[in-house]
Amino acid sequence: MSSAVRVDIDRTETWTRYRKGLCEGCAARCCTMPVEVRVPDLLRLGLVEPFEAEHETPAVIARRLQREGIVGHFSHKHAIFTLSQRAGGDCLYLDGKSRLCTVYERRPDTCRQHPAVGPRPGYCPYGPADTAAASVTLASSGRGKRGASRS
Ligand code: SF4
Repeated sequence: MSSAVRVDIDRTETWTRYRKGLCEGCAARCCTMPVEVRVPDLLRLGLVEPFEAEHETPAVIARRLQREGIVGHFSHKHAIFTLSQRAGGDCLYLDGKSRLCTVYERRPDTCRQHPAVGPRPGYCPYGPADTAAASVTLASSGRGKRGASRS
């Protein structure tokens, strides 16, 4: 499957109220939104070593990760990194075929908190998966951003 439709975070009035089980039939549209992370997330993802986190400034770390294509934007004011996205909007860590997170156990706090925290708390940009295979995979896997943490 190719990437899902990129989510427009300025049109949250079109979002769906989150409910248990909603993720199982979804094309992981929440994983096409920009993901903001902090240094502890980067440590957990293995993108930054503890020594580097202790001895380098977030700005220096951001420059390295931008050079490596992992970070697309860095807010100096808030020391927040935004992960790069693929051309279609998918997160770097989203498996384009299964629509599952490939780093689920190490995913950033932003992902763990969605949709309780986000552009429209309690609502998500649900969009149905467009193949039966994807739905089966999502329903049977018990992992991925969608569902496992909320079921
Ligand atoms: S849950 Fe995984 S794939 Fe989805 S946005 Fe977060 S890190 Fe990326």
